[in-house]
Amino acid sequence: MTSVAVVGAGISGLVAAYRLRQALGPAATITLVEAAERIGGKLRTVPLADGVIDIGAEAFVGRRPEVPALLAELGIADQLVHPAGLRPLVWAGGALHPLPTETLMGIPSGRAAVEGLVDDATLARIDAEPATPLRWDRASDIDVGSLVAERFGEQVVRRSVDPLLGGVYSGLSSSIGVRAALPTLAAALDSGASSLTEAVRLALPPPLAGPVFGGIRDGYAVLLDALLAAADPVLELGMTVRSIERIGTSWQLEPLGSFDGVVLALPAQTIGRLLAVVAPAAASAAAAIPLASSALVALALPAGADLPQHSGVLVATGESLRAKAFTFSSRKWPHLAERGVALVRASFGRYGDSVADTGDADLIAAATEDLATVTGVSVTPTDAVVQHWSGGLPQYLPGHLDRVDEIESGLADLAGLEVAGAFLRGVGVPACISAGSAAAARLLAAVH
Ligand SMILES: Cc1cc2nc3c(=O)[nH]c(=O)nc-3n(C[C@H](O)[C@H](O)[C@H](O)COP(=O)(O)OP(=O)(O)OC[C@H]3O[C@@H](n4cnc5c(N)ncnc54)[C@H](O)[C@@H]3O)c2cc1C
Repeated sequence: MTSVAVVGAGISGLVAAYRLRQALGPAATITLVEAAERIGGKLRTVPLADGVIDIGAEAFVGRRPEVPALLAELGIADQLVHPAGLRPLVWAGGALHPLPTETLMGIPSGRAAVEGLVDDATLARIDAEPATPLRWDRASDIDVGSLVAERFGEQVVRRSVDPLLGGVYSGLSSSIGVRAALPTLAAALDSGASSLTEAVRLALPPPLAGPVFGGIRDGYAVLLDALLAAADPVLELGMTVRSIERIGTSWQLEPLGSFDGVVLALPAQTIGRLLAVVAPAAASAAAAIPLASSALVALALPAGADLPQHSGVLVATGESLRAKAFTFSSRKWPHLAERGVALVRASFGRYGDSVADTGDADLIAAATEDLATVTGVSVTPTDAVVQHWSGGLPQYLPGHLDRVDEIESGLADLAGLEVAGAFLRGVGVPACISAGSAAAARLLAAVH
C-alpha cells in the first residue's frame, strides 16, 4: 500500500494519518483531505486576552490513557496540565448547589448524593427505589432520562443527569441511550441488579488516584500540529470529498483521484452520504445518527472580576437561563490563572433546540447576563470569541451500538475502506484517538 487518503482532519483523522505514517514509513504517500481551511475539526485554539484558549474541547477524561500517551509519544509530554481540583456547582431552582457526589454521570447511588439539590419527595423516592421491583429488558435499550425518571423522578433527571451526562453530548438524557453512554450500568442491569441504586453502585468506577481531567497547556492546537508534523501528509485544505467509488482494488475519491486505501474520519451524516452507493446498509446506519449543534462563547473579564472559587456552573434543564454551562477557565486551570485575567467559557445549545443559531452579539450578551445571574459578577467583557459548532456532537440515541455494528459489518467486506470518528464508540477526544488508531490498524491489516 503506497498511497492512502485520510478524509477529515479532526483528531480522529490526524491520528489515523499519523499511525499510517508510522507503519508505512516515509515512502508512502498519505493524503489528508479537509473541507475546512484549517485542521482540527471540533478542536480549535484561538487567541484571547494576550494568550490562547480552546473553544471546542478543552479537556479530556483522566481515566483514559490515550491523550497523555500520545503527548509522550510526540515528545510534548510537558504540555500535559491538570485542573486545580475545584468542583463545579449546579444552578437549579434559581440557586447554586454543590455538584452531586457519588453519582454515575449524575445518577445517584443513594440519597446522600443529591441531598440539598432535590426536594424531600424525590429523596423519599430514592430511599424507596431499592425495594421497588425493576423491569429491565436485556434485549433492548432505553434512554437514560426515562430510566432515571421512572426510578428516581424527574427532578433527578433535570438537576443532576441532564447537566452531567447531557453536557457530554450537547443533549438531554432523554436523547441518550443507556447501553452506549453508560455501558457499565447496562452490564450491571443485564447481570441482574435488582434496582437502579444497586446497578449504579456496581457500575461506579473505583475512585481515581490522579486528577479527573487533563488538558493541554497551550491548547489542543499543540497536539494537532505535532500530529500533522509526524504524519507528514500531503495536506489538502479547503477540499470537500464529494463521492467515493470502488474501481478494482482501488478507491476513487472525487475530486482527488485514486488510492490504495481510505480512512473516512468524518461526522456521521457525511459518512452516510458518502457511503450511500458503496455500502448502503452502513450508510443508512450512519445517517440515522443525529447531530446536536452548540455554540461556545469565551469571555475575558476586566481586572477585579471575582469569579466564585469553583471550576464552573452546570445549568439544570428547565431553568430560565439561556446558557447551559459555564466553565470558569481561569479558576479551573492553574496555567490559565497564571495569566492574571478572569476567563470564562459559556456553552449554549442542546440537541433539538436552536439556541446555537443565535447571532454572535446576542450570544455574548446572553453569556454576560447569565453569568451575572449565577455569580453576581456583572461586568462588560474586555474581549470575547464566539464559536458555532453546527452538528458538533453525535447523539447516541437508544440502539446506538446496533447502528455502530451495522456500520462496521456493512464495511467488513470492503478491504481498504475504513471509518473513524466521534460517532462510533465515544465522543470524547480519547475515544476519537482510539478510533483513529483502530481504523489505521484495520486498514493496514486488510491491505498491507
Ligand atoms: C463544544 C464542544 C466541546 C467539547 N468538549 C470536549 C471535551 O472537553 N473533552 C473531550 O474529550 N471531548 C470534547 N468534545 C468532543 C470532541 O471534541 C469531538 O468529539 C472530537 O474532537 C471529534 O473529532 P473527529 O475527528 O471525530 O471529528 P471532527 O472534529 O468533526 O472532524 C471531522 C473533520 O471532517 C471534515 N469534513 C467534513 N466533511 C468533509 C468532506 N466531505 N471532505 C473533507 N473533509 C470533511 C470537517 O471539516 C472536520 O474537520 C467537545 C465537542 C464540542 C463540539
